[in-house]
Amino acid sequence: QSSRETAAQVQATIHVLIFPFPVQGHITPMLKLAELLSISGMRVTFLSTHDNHRRLLSSACVRARLARRPGLHLRSIPDGLSEDNPRDGSRLLEMIEGLDAATLPLFREILASSGGDGPEGAPPVTCVVADGLILFAVDVAEELGIPIINFRTSSACSFLAYQRIPELCETGIIPFQDGCDLDKLVACVPGMENFLRRRDLPSFCRSNSVDDPYMRFLKGMIRNSTRYRGLVLNTSEFVEFAALTQIRRLVPSTYPIGPLDGLLQTVESLTSAVEGEAGGVPPSKYSTSLWQEDRTCIAWLDASPPSSVVYVSFGSLALLKGEQLLELWHGLVNSGYHFLWVVRPGLVVDGGADGGVPEEVAAGTEERGLLVGWAPQQEVLAHPAVGCFLTHSGWNSTLEGMWAGVPMVCLPYFADQPVNSRFVGEVWRNGADIKDRCDRATVEKAVREVMAGERGPEMRAAAANLSEMVRECVGEGGTSYKNLERLIRDIRAMSL
Ligand code: UDP
Repeated sequence: QSSRETAAQVQATIHVLIFPFPVQGHITPMLKLAELLSISGMRVTFLSTHDNHRRLLSSACVRARLARRPGLHLRSIPDGLSEDNPRDGSRLLEMIEGLDAATLPLFREILASSGGDGPEGAPPVTCVVADGLILFAVDVAEELGIPIINFRTSSACSFLAYQRIPELCETGIIPFQDGCDLDKLVACVPGMENFLRRRDLPSFCRSNSVDDPYMRFLKGMIRNSTRYRGLVLNTSEFVEFAALTQIRRLVPSTYPIGPLDGLLQTVESLTSAVEGEAGGVPPSKYSTSLWQEDRTCIAWLDASPPSSVVYVSFGSLALLKGEQLLELWHGLVNSGYHFLWVVRPGLVVDGGADGGVPEEVAAGTEERGLLVGWAPQQEVLAHPAVGCFLTHSGWNSTLEGMWAGVPMVCLPYFADQPVNSRFVGEVWRNGADIKDRCDRATVEKAVREVMAGERGPEMRAAAANLSEMVRECVGEGGTSYKNLERLIRDIRAMSL
């Protein structure tokens, strides 16, 4: 028997089940990992909720990509939410409860049975890669004796900062009391002693109760973190070396394999070359958007001078009050720059039926900018007309901004965003962090500073350097590339 046949037989017995938390920022990187594992020859089942499954498959781009991956199967399960739930991330707690009630039993059933996705059945699941936010996944996998790897879609720096939150609760520092000094240093997160302030921790640390439901959820996630066989992070050794070094003391098998988009492009172009195809798929075809992308903004950008536009997006979950949106809009208009702004349906909580945009904003934007419901963000960031990214500092957006080499103005809202933005402002220095200050004067000043102010050149140089380095990490033989090889090897070993 040739070694080639043996390898093929081993591969056929490996079946990885990937289970993301059902929101855009988690589905995107985990689907990229699913593709990468599938390219390596493993059978992969990607589990998503019915609604997201339908939305993913309504994208021609996703369908085209799946058609290239016969070993990758999408399977859907209920999310446990009521019919009237908007499924837009605005009710996260309901989402978590729904998963616990309706999804957990089916998840157990899938793992306990074949794990298959068709009437012909499939080999049993030999390894699970579950989102760290799906707290029950590790219980079920342990119960059934199936190896499980943790995928956290946030940054390494926020992962590390989160680990200290229970201790800060025990010592009474959290919850921060009204009137306490939010600029005080937290001082107990290794490597961040000199710059991580209380205001840089997730906003629920400011809640009045230690029993805040998000806090309880976070503590569960932290308790779980050492129960997995490994930890996958969508980051790179270059960007987060210090935090990764600390994390490895806790979880020795940590695999920083980001930015996953870039890594997939590398691997795909190498395998396409092997298969004799003409190059890989162009970057614009990597979209995994759950919303329909409005591509008119690309033509609008084409007509704009280089580095003249501010791109504004708050991701898929953040919610803005009408008055916040108005302050932002005035800040942007007063900065004098043109802007492209994603106002996703439901972004404005107290807005009207037409996407919630106040009349003043809708009417006054025509001269200065363009509003779209959902943009092809990576293409937008790569466009030469974009000179600044006003972002909520979600981790995917932060990485995409880095990849494109675009300096940022950060206005974070919750979860890991306040930590990420602190790193942008203080450590990576590729942007300005204006957290907790959403007034028009601050927004105007920050946009001007990044576009043409005194610190602008330093931020642009830092952004350009980061872009170069993350590209090197995902290139053939780069650190993320090698970490992926190690992950594949380890999954094979634990699947036997
Ligand atoms: N995104 C997009 N088009 C938009 C706005 C956002 O494609 O108009 C994508 C963006 O590229 C990113 C994801 O949505 O990959 C948002 O993830 P992130 O982690 O930044 O934030 P979250 O939505 O989780 O808060």
